[in-house]
Amino acid sequence: MYDPLTSRYTFACPRRGEAHITLSGFRTLERLEGTAHPVVYRVRFACGCGDEHDGLVSHDELDWAPLGLEGGVFLNLMTSKVEPVADELGGLAALRIGAGEWPWSFFCYPEERPRPVFPSAFFLLTPGDGRVGLAVRCPACRKTSVNVVSHEHIDVPFHNDREVGVVEHVFADDVPAAVEEFRAELWSSAFDARRLAL
Ligand SMILES: [Zn+2]
Ligand SMILES: [Zn+2]
Repeated sequence: MYDPLTSRYTFACPRRGEAHITLSGFRTLERLEGTAHPVVYRVRFACGCGDEHDGLVSHDELDWAPLGLEGGVFLNLMTSKVEPVADELGGLAALRIGAGEWPWSFFCYPEERPRPVFPSAFFLLTPGDGRVGLAVRCPACRKTSVNVVSHEHIDVPFHNDREVGVVEHVFADDVPAAVEEFRAELWSSAFDARRLAL
Protein backbone atom coordinates (compact mmCIF):
# COMPACT_ATOMS: atom_id res chain seq x y z
CA MET A 1 0.00 0.00 0.00
CA TYR A 2 2.80 2.46 0.91
CA ASP A 3 5.97 2.17 -1.16
CA PRO A 4 9.02 3.56 0.70
CA LEU A 5 11.03 3.63 -2.54
CA THR A 6 8.75 6.22 -4.10
CA SER A 7 7.12 7.60 -0.92
CA ARG A 8 3.73 6.91 -2.48
CA TYR A 9 0.50 5.26 -1.45
CA THR A 10 -1.29 2.99 -3.88
CA PHE A 11 -5.04 3.44 -4.26
CA ALA A 12 -7.64 2.26 -6.73
CA CYS A 13 -8.55 4.63 -9.56
CA PRO A 14 -11.81 3.84 -11.40
CA ARG A 15 -10.30 5.06 -14.69
CA ARG A 16 -6.69 3.93 -14.59
CA GLY A 17 -6.90 1.01 -12.18
CA GLU A 18 -4.20 2.25 -9.83
CA ALA A 19 -3.06 5.59 -8.51
CA HIS A 20 0.25 6.29 -6.76
CA ILE A 21 -0.15 9.25 -4.43
CA THR A 22 2.22 11.16 -2.14
CA LEU A 23 0.98 12.33 1.25
CA SER A 24 0.71 15.90 -0.05
CA GLY A 25 -1.65 14.56 -2.75
CA PHE A 26 -4.19 13.83 -0.03
CA ARG A 27 -7.01 16.38 0.23
CA THR A 28 -8.97 15.28 3.30
CA LEU A 29 -8.38 12.71 6.03
CA GLU A 30 -11.15 11.55 8.30
CA ARG A 31 -10.99 8.93 11.00
CA LEU A 32 -13.64 6.26 10.39
CA GLU A 33 -16.01 5.91 13.32
CA GLY A 34 -16.07 2.49 14.92
CA THR A 35 -12.60 1.39 13.79
CA ALA A 36 -10.07 0.54 16.46
CA HIS A 37 -7.82 -2.42 15.59
CA PRO A 38 -6.61 -0.90 13.40
CA VAL A 39 -7.94 2.63 13.30
CA VAL A 40 -8.76 3.38 9.66
CA TYR A 41 -8.86 6.74 7.89
CA ARG A 42 -10.90 7.64 4.87
CA VAL A 43 -8.73 9.66 2.53
CA ARG A 44 -9.82 11.79 -0.40
CA PHE A 45 -6.92 12.22 -2.81
CA ALA A 46 -6.14 14.15 -5.98
CA CYS A 47 -5.61 11.48 -8.64
CA GLY A 48 -3.40 11.79 -11.73
CA CYS A 49 -6.50 11.18 -13.86
CA GLY A 50 -7.77 14.63 -12.85
CA ASP A 51 -10.48 13.49 -10.44
CA GLU A 52 -10.53 13.06 -6.70
CA HIS A 53 -11.28 9.62 -5.24
CA ASP A 54 -11.67 8.06 -1.80
CA GLY A 55 -9.38 5.43 -0.35
CA LEU A 56 -8.77 3.81 3.02
CA VAL A 57 -5.50 3.95 4.97
CA SER A 58 -4.77 2.32 8.30
CA HIS A 59 -3.19 4.33 11.08
CA ASP A 60 0.05 2.35 10.73
CA GLU A 61 0.29 3.05 7.02
CA LEU A 62 -0.29 6.73 7.65
CA ASP A 63 2.09 7.39 10.52
CA TRP A 64 4.63 4.57 10.52
CA ALA A 65 5.03 3.26 6.98
CA PRO A 66 6.76 6.48 5.75
CA LEU A 67 9.35 5.88 8.47
CA GLY A 68 9.95 2.32 7.35
CA LEU A 69 8.47 0.99 10.56
CA GLU A 70 6.31 -1.46 8.67
CA GLY A 71 6.88 -4.30 6.23
CA GLY A 72 8.19 -3.89 2.71
CA VAL A 73 11.65 -3.77 1.22
CA PHE A 74 14.03 -1.07 0.07
CA LEU A 75 17.05 -0.89 -2.13
CA ASN A 76 20.23 -0.56 -0.10
CA LEU A 77 22.37 1.78 -2.23
CA MET A 78 25.55 0.65 -0.45
CA THR A 79 25.14 -3.02 -1.28
CA SER A 80 22.69 -2.70 -4.22
CA LYS A 81 20.57 -5.29 -2.50
CA VAL A 82 16.92 -5.23 -1.72
CA GLU A 83 16.60 -5.61 2.03
CA PRO A 84 13.78 -5.68 4.54
CA VAL A 85 12.90 -2.11 5.29
CA ALA A 86 12.05 -2.24 8.95
CA ASP A 87 15.57 -3.00 10.17
CA GLU A 88 17.39 -0.26 8.30
CA LEU A 89 15.01 2.63 7.96
CA GLY A 90 13.09 1.86 11.10
CA GLY A 91 16.25 1.73 13.18
CA LEU A 92 17.44 5.01 11.67
CA ALA A 93 14.08 6.69 12.24
CA ALA A 94 14.06 5.51 15.83
CA LEU A 95 17.58 6.90 16.35
CA ARG A 96 16.67 10.29 14.91
CA ILE A 97 13.49 10.57 16.95
CA GLY A 98 15.49 9.55 20.02
CA ALA A 99 17.94 12.38 19.25
CA GLY A 100 15.11 14.90 19.27
CA GLU A 101 14.50 15.13 15.51
CA TRP A 102 10.90 14.88 14.40
CA PRO A 103 9.67 13.37 11.15
CA TRP A 104 6.88 15.97 10.93
CA SER A 105 6.18 19.21 12.73
CA PHE A 106 3.83 22.17 12.49
CA PHE A 107 3.33 25.54 14.14
CA CYS A 108 0.42 25.57 16.61
CA TYR A 109 -1.09 29.04 16.34
CA PRO A 110 -3.28 28.95 19.51
CA GLU A 111 -0.22 27.89 21.54
CA GLU A 112 2.18 30.07 19.51
CA ARG A 113 4.82 27.31 19.33
CA PRO A 114 6.09 24.53 17.05
CA ARG A 115 4.99 20.98 17.84
CA PRO A 116 5.91 17.52 16.56
CA VAL A 117 3.08 15.74 14.81
CA PHE A 118 2.18 12.66 12.77
CA PRO A 119 0.23 12.62 9.50
CA SER A 120 -2.90 11.25 11.22
CA ALA A 121 -3.29 14.74 12.75
CA PHE A 122 -3.55 16.30 9.25
CA PHE A 123 -7.13 16.65 8.04
CA LEU A 124 -7.24 19.04 5.13
CA LEU A 125 -4.70 19.85 2.41
CA THR A 126 -5.08 22.43 -0.33
CA PRO A 127 -2.32 23.10 -2.87
CA GLY A 128 -1.67 26.53 -4.30
CA ASP A 129 1.23 28.75 -5.21
CA GLY A 130 3.67 25.79 -5.32
CA ARG A 131 2.99 25.11 -1.66
CA VAL A 132 0.33 23.35 0.38
CA GLY A 133 -2.12 24.72 2.93
CA LEU A 134 -2.25 22.14 5.70
CA ALA A 135 -4.85 22.00 8.47
CA VAL A 136 -3.59 20.14 11.55
CA ARG A 137 -5.43 19.15 14.70
CA CYS A 138 -2.90 19.74 17.46
CA PRO A 139 -2.19 16.52 19.39
CA ALA A 140 -1.49 18.61 22.52
CA CYS A 141 -4.22 21.29 22.69
CA ARG A 142 -6.69 19.72 20.16
CA LYS A 143 -7.10 23.07 18.38
CA THR A 144 -6.82 23.45 14.62
CA SER A 145 -3.95 25.35 13.01
CA VAL A 146 -3.37 26.04 9.34
CA ASN A 147 0.21 26.15 8.08
CA VAL A 148 1.45 26.86 4.56
CA VAL A 149 4.32 24.48 3.82
CA SER A 150 6.39 22.94 1.01
CA HIS A 151 5.42 19.57 -0.49
CA GLU A 152 8.64 18.12 0.95
CA HIS A 153 7.63 19.23 4.44
CA ILE A 154 4.72 16.79 4.15
CA ASP A 155 6.14 14.08 1.87
CA VAL A 156 9.69 13.63 3.19
CA PRO A 157 9.98 12.47 6.81
CA PHE A 158 12.54 14.56 8.77
CA HIS A 159 12.36 17.34 6.20
CA ASN A 160 10.95 20.24 8.19
CA ASP A 161 10.69 23.65 6.53
CA ARG A 162 12.73 26.17 8.51
CA GLU A 163 9.87 28.60 8.24
CA VAL A 164 6.21 27.96 7.56
CA GLY A 165 3.32 30.30 6.84
CA VAL A 166 0.80 30.46 9.66
CA VAL A 167 -2.80 31.52 9.16
CA GLU A 168 -3.46 33.85 12.08
CA HIS A 169 -6.91 32.60 12.83
CA VAL A 170 -8.36 30.43 15.62
CA PHE A 171 -10.53 27.88 13.84
CA ALA A 172 -13.86 26.45 14.97
CA ASP A 173 -13.71 23.21 16.93
CA ASP A 174 -16.19 21.33 14.78
CA VAL A 175 -14.67 20.03 11.58
CA PRO A 176 -17.21 21.14 8.92
CA ALA A 177 -17.09 24.73 10.21
CA ALA A 178 -13.29 24.63 10.32
CA VAL A 179 -13.22 23.34 6.73
CA GLU A 180 -15.33 26.29 5.55
CA GLU A 181 -13.14 28.75 7.46
CA PHE A 182 -10.02 27.10 6.10
CA ARG A 183 -11.21 27.55 2.52
CA ALA A 184 -12.13 31.17 3.21
CA GLU A 185 -8.93 32.12 5.03
CA LEU A 186 -6.30 30.24 3.06
CA TRP A 187 -4.50 32.09 0.27
CA SER A 188 -6.17 35.30 1.42
CA SER A 189 -2.66 36.51 2.41
CA ALA A 190 -3.61 36.47 6.09
CA PHE A 191 -0.64 34.35 7.07
CA ASP A 192 2.65 35.18 8.66
CA ALA A 193 5.98 33.34 8.75
CA ARG A 194 7.01 31.43 11.86
CA ARG A 195 10.21 29.52 12.54
CA LEU A 196 9.85 25.82 13.07
CA ALA A 197 12.87 25.08 15.29
CA LEU A 198 11.60 22.62 17.86
ZN1 LIG B 1 -8.18 8.50 -10.90
ZN1 LIG C 1 -1.55 23.15 20.15
